[in-house]
Amino acid sequence: MRPIRSGDRGPAVTEIRAVLTGLDLLAATPGDEFDVATERAVRAFQQSRGLSADGRVGAETWRALDAARWRLGARTLYHAVPEPLTGDDVRSLQERLLEMGYDVGGADAVYGVRTSRAVAQFQREVGLKPDGSCGPYTMGALRRLGRKVVGGRPQWLRESDAIRQSGPTLVGRTVVIDPGHGGTDPGVVVPDGSLRWTEADLVHDLASRLEGRLAAAGVRVQLTRGPAPRDCLPDVDRAELANSLGADVFISLHTDGHADPAADGVATYHYGTDNGVTSATGERLAGLVQREIVARTGLRDCRTHAKAWDLLRLTRMPAVRVEVGYLTSPQDRSRLVDPRFRDRVVEAIVAAVQRMFFPVERDVPTGSIDVSALRAAVTAGAVRD
Ligand SMILES: [Zn+2]
Repeated sequence: MRPIRSGDRGPAVTEIRAVLTGLDLLAATPGDEFDVATERAVRAFQQSRGLSADGRVGAETWRALDAARWRLGARTLYHAVPEPLTGDDVRSLQERLLEMGYDVGGADAVYGVRTSRAVAQFQREVGLKPDGSCGPYTMGALRRLGRKVVGGRPQWLRESDAIRQSGPTLVGRTVVIDPGHGGTDPGVVVPDGSLRWTEADLVHDLASRLEGRLAAAGVRVQLTRGPAPRDCLPDVDRAELANSLGADVFISLHTDGHADPAADGVATYHYGTDNGVTSATGERLAGLVQREIVARTGLRDCRTHAKAWDLLRLTRMPAVRVEVGYLTSPQDRSRLVDPRFRDRVVEAIVAAVQRMFFPVERDVPTGSIDVSALRAAVTAGAVRD
């Protein structure tokens, strides 16, 4: 869909304005025009949700606005089949259950079977009928108990336990690599004399180098797209693909772009919201990827950040998106177009993935893993402990 933006009018704009007014981001004035005030409110909304604050309503912002209509307690929540209920109320419920130590998977705003099971477990423990749906009685019980049991980050413990129990080996793991853009969407494009560098091509090259290195270490690797797909796969479908493959790790590769050629550096993103909810393992993977790349390439450190993008929210495994340098920066670009530099980036990511599966107490210093030795170790069977 074409984004709805400044200057547009019509019933869709009226709807957008109504949701923004309900969130106290926009004064309640009549009209169906996407005016300056509406744009400001859209930006504020996007910022609060960890979305790119471009002031337009594309598919992702539309879904977030749609979800934002629902406040927890305004409707009964239950596990609907085949179209599950989604919304901010579902996310609030999941966050509350997570705080209390119930296993809902992640706070993905989708009322699926795990959320329903967690609600049923809660209901059983407080003496309600365990039907797995969240109506007025269950809401009341949650309100009374919800805030008493905060702390301890139970989800963090659960996620890191699962990783620890699976052991340090890479052999047999599934890693999904997601080269961004592709097809009709080239991403960032920079003309360079008679040449034309595109983000979609560069990140696909990075992805296939990474595929080779990981496969040599015994990892099952799947790319979300080929070098020249016909269409651009939406992020929702990329996440769904990683889920259906049961991936252990998801890595999305991008390069950044900015109107100011002085903007440069590498940044890594993991799932998280403004209310402090974060995927602990995603955050750890992002930190490892970021530190290894900075240490091995000398790109400027633009740090790690929590974002609620579909790609990070809907993936059920540790997932990160790396923006490996700015294609619009002459300095970053001259490095990115050098295949030896891309190999160093790839080595950094392989080292980060390996460290992800080391128990925290056996972790090694950044920059210290010799990636070429991994292959020899696999051949010798030494990594299978
Ligand atoms: Zn991109």
